[in-house]
Formats: sequence, C-alpha cells, structure tokens
Amino acid sequence: MPYLRNMSEVIQLLPDHIANQIAAGEVIQRPASAVKEMLENAIDAGATHIHLIIKDAGKELIQVNDDGKGMSPIDARMCFERHATSKIRTIDDLFEIRTMGFRGEALASIAAVAQVELKTKPKDSEVGTRIVVENSEVQIQEPCSMNQGTHLSVKNLFFNIPARRNFLKSTTTETRHILDEFIRVAMAFPEIAFKFTNNGADIFHLESGKLKLRILSLLGQNLNNKLVPVQEEAGFIQIQGFVASPDAASRTRGNQFFFVNNRFIKSAYLNHAVTQSYQNLIAKDEFPLFVLFLAIDPKRVDINVHPTKQEIKFDEEKMIYAIVHAAVKRALSQYSIAPSLDFSLDANIEHLPSITQPFSKQKQEHTKSDYLFQSFTEKGQAHFLDKKPKIANWQELYQVQQQLNPEVTAPETKPEPVFEESFQEEFLQINKAYIIATTKSGCLFINQHLAHERILYERYQRTRLQPLTIQKCLLPVMLEFNAVDTVMLESMLDDLLNLGFEIEKFGQQSFTIQGIPADIKPGKEKETIEQLMESYKHFSSEVKLEKREKLIRLMASQQAIPEGKKLSNAEMQELFQQLLLCEQPSLAPNGKKIMARITSKDIELLIQQS
Ligand code: ADP
Ligand code: MG
Repeated sequence: MPYLRNMSEVIQLLPDHIANQIAAGEVIQRPASAVKEMLENAIDAGATHIHLIIKDAGKELIQVNDDGKGMSPIDARMCFERHATSKIRTIDDLFEIRTMGFRGEALASIAAVAQVELKTKPKDSEVGTRIVVENSEVQIQEPCSMNQGTHLSVKNLFFNIPARRNFLKSTTTETRHILDEFIRVAMAFPEIAFKFTNNGADIFHLESGKLKLRILSLLGQNLNNKLVPVQEEAGFIQIQGFVASPDAASRTRGNQFFFVNNRFIKSAYLNHAVTQSYQNLIAKDEFPLFVLFLAIDPKRVDINVHPTKQEIKFDEEKMIYAIVHAAVKRALSQYSIAPSLDFSLDANIEHLPSITQPFSKQKQEHTKSDYLFQSFTEKGQAHFLDKKPKIANWQELYQVQQQLNPEVTAPETKPEPVFEESFQEEFLQINKAYIIATTKSGCLFINQHLAHERILYERYQRTRLQPLTIQKCLLPVMLEFNAVDTVMLESMLDDLLNLGFEIEKFGQQSFTIQGIPADIKPGKEKETIEQLMESYKHFSSEVKLEKREKLIRLMASQQAIPEGKKLSNAEMQELFQQLLLCEQPSLAPNGKKIMARITSKDIELLIQQS
C-alpha cells in the first residue's frame, strides 16, 4: 500500500481523520442526531433515570447523564472505536435486533466531530473512568469518582468541520429537532424517568409511569379524557397505544407517533391507515392525533432500511395496513360508550390478495386460527371481533326503528351490543337541552340536538340507496332566485330529490317545490329550501366535503330538534333508542361529543368536592 500511495499522482487516499469525519456525517447530521444516539445508548444500558442537558441548540453542549450499567475502563476506551459495539455478536443478531442502536458507529462518529468527555462507572467498581476525546484522539484517560452510570458530554459539535457547522439551521429549528427526538424517545419508554434541561431551564421533568400519563405530560394535559385506548393482537402483530377523539385533531401533522418494536418510524402508509379510520369524523385536511406501538416479529420487518431516515419495510405491508385500520376503527367506535355496528374493512382493502389469501400455504393453517384474521376474511364477520351481543332486546330496538322508519330492515346478523348496561325507562330533561338517562351504574347526559342530528345524518346518508318518502304539496310552492343561486340550486336538484325534495325548474330563475320529505311540516317548504341554500353558501370553507355530504350535514342540523324544545318522556325514549341504533352514537357528524357518562362514583366525587 505505501508503495501504491507514492506511485499514484492523481488518486490520493484520504487521511484517517478526514475519512472518519465523512463517515461521521452519515450518522450525525445535526445536534438532534447525536441526542437520539446518546439517549438510545442510555436506554440500552438499562438506565431508569435519564437527564438530557443542552445549550445553544446543542451546538455548545449536549450532555446525557444516565444511571445505567456503565462501562469498564477498557470498554470506555473501546466504545469510541468504529464498529465497537456490545450489541451484535453474530450476523444472525442483525436479523433479530431488539435493542435500539446496533451499528457501533455513533460514539465513533460523535468523537470524530466534537470535543467529548465520558465519565462512566459500572456497579461493582470502586472508581469510574474519565476520558476526553477530540478529533477521534484520546486526550486524557484517568480515574474519577462518580455513582453508577454514564455521563457523556459533547461540546462544540462540528468544531472541526466549519462548513458543516455553518450549515446548521437557526437555534429555534435545531432545538425543535432535538425536542422532537426527545419526545419520541421519552414516549416510547414511559417506565423511564426523563429530565430535559435547555439553557439552564428544566423544560420536561417526566416521572416514570404508564403510557397515558407520559402522553399527557409530553403532548398536553388537555388531552385528558380524549385518549381512546387501542389494543389488538393478531398472531404475529400486536398493536397498542392511544388514538385521540376527533375533536383533538389538528391541521398539522405534528402529533402522530408510530413505533415499531419501540422504535419511532415514519410511514405515510400506516398514517393513512389510521386517518382512514377517522373518515367522516374529521375534516379532510385535519390530522388525527395518535400514539401507536406495533410489535412485530423482528424477522418480518426491515427496520434498518435507512439508518437515519426512520423508514421501514414490512413483509406483509397490506395486511398490517388492514389490521391497523381495523384496530383504530374499532377503538374509535367503542369510544365513550358504544361500539359501532359496522367496522368492516375498506372495500379496497377487503379485496387485496393479502387479505383474501393468507401469505403462504405453510402459514395458512396457523393464520386461519387467528380470530382477527378471520374477521377480515370472512365477509360480514367483522362485527364479531370481540364480545358477543349481550343485549337481549335488539329485535325490539329494530321494531321501534321500523315503526319510525319502515324502509330500514333489520340486518340478518345481530348487531353488536350498543350498551352493556340496562336502562331505566324514565328520562329527565334539563334546561330543555339535555336528556338524562339513568343506568344501573350511573347516568348518561345527552345533548338532544346533537343526538337527533346524528340520527338524521345517518338516515339521510342511507338515502343514496333508499330515497326518502316524498309527501306531495297540495299546491306547488314558487321559489325565485338570482342567477348565481339558480345555478347552485340546479346543481343540487338530484341530491335534493334523494332527500325527499321534489323541485322543478320553472322559467329562467324560478323553481317550484312539488313535494317535501314526509317528516317536514307542510307550510315551511320555501323557508326550508332558502335556509338550506343560505347555509350551504356559508358552509365552513376549511372543510372539503362533497356536495351531497354538505347537504346532508346541513339538513341534519337544520331538521334536528333544537335546544329549547320540551320533550315528553315518550319522545326522549324514542330519541334515545334511535340513537342506540346509530353507527356512531357518541359523536355528532361534526365530531362533537353527543354524550357524557357519569358513574355513581363520579357523582360521589362531585358531592365531596363541592
Ligand atoms: P451501538 O450503540 O450501536 O453499539 P455506539 O457507538 O452507540 O454503538 O456505542 C458503542 C458501545 O458503547 C455500545 O455498544 C455500549 O457497549 C457502549 N455504550 C455507549 N453508551 C453507553 C452508555 N450510556 N452506558 C453504557 N454503555 C454505553
Ligand atoms: Mg448506540
């Protein structure tokens, strides 16, 4: 080699320290990448308390103190060598990685581009080791006194690569990246206590505890009461975590967390699976909040597709999509009080080969016995994912509904139980706005307007297949519009006909109403249509919905029993029972909650606190 090196005039081998710096650049791109590697090392070392300290967005200092297992003097020296790792022994290990970092490159990379001080002590040693490394070269190694664990501080990142240091973004941006990494790691390990100090100020102090507590501490206490647990197991895949109720959705993607085998990943595909489960519950441009953990046999994932991009490949992508989708949909439908009557799969997914055919003959037998898989593959079985119906009088509920709405026929299969408790027949109305239904264990507070809005909304939705009955007007009612409104109404005539409005164009800018839906009071035809047109024009422009959906929502809200209307006991009972039959009895079409459940315990608490 030296011979060749001298001979060549054009090609030069890079000096070691430059080669190191180049390699380092792939692992450590910005302060946040060092933070991530250092936090992961502390977790791998079994720490129960981790303290992250940064100054000037990590450009001046990144320090991680942990109480993990520490390193012996020899390991402390070794850990800065490239490909020094205690986590892989054989090539087989690579395929079954459960720990987080495993490339043996992080510390070597950091040491190549910063001034590093390591202090570490294993449990059984009297003294610890202090090492100072700069530019990949060890400057100092000496004994030091400290408790069990490791303190690693990284100063002046990229001090020896000015081009890279200058390339860093503003302090705000780099701090944001660090914060993101911190949140992802802290989210995945709620059992570990974390502290985060930024420029001398403690910005997070996280006690160890359950995932829900961790989510609230990291994303905000205002999510309390808005987190819906997700828990599903299907043979080789397990899903758990929380999704938030639709009213916690936001216009930015920020609060979406997917972890695969406890590693944060980005997957547009899986995000889509979750978002689809919120269909009709949130606006098209809103993003649901979720924190979901998938546990998959590591042999079926290729998590290290790219070491820093957090992308991932699954062997049975479509299957996983379907499972995630169904798990979230189910969790949402159970949200608050009621499971939905339908959480069958998206038609597109239902026909995918990965759903209709198990992945290989050999695995087929195994998979067949899996209940979640069965529920995907057997048509109409998705209702029965869990508990069998407990409600005894479901036929009665249908009879009630049939009297009210004869077009609806009872389904062949029994619906899921809508409530697991029995209800008393007595209802109470408060302020002409809320209905109280009493149950064995407490009561339900129901917003009468929103409840009726949901009932009508679902009834109107079904009109695509089964148009509403029309009552003919005794005399046609005339409508006059300006040119713009004429065009608008013309484009709505078909949809309106489905919804029970028979309207005909009559001359240039006028129409006649020939018939109206059976449940609208005659005499209000003109008013109803004019109001509908007016609110259609002002329908919140942020929400992108198709024309028909808008109309249905508007009509449901327009026709629903208003606040301020007194209801008889029979009316309340009827409303309540119709609500029970809805697919989504707990949320209004706009995502607002319809009801709250209050247990006797809650009541007692209220009394004691007042
Ligand atoms: P990897 O984590 O991929 O093994 P690193 O370069 O991040 O590679 O770390 C190299 C080795 O140094 C680790 O395998 C581990 O043995 C040791 N190490 C690093 N950080 C710590 C720590 N905080 N506590 C104990 N050991 C550590
Ligand atoms: Mg590591």
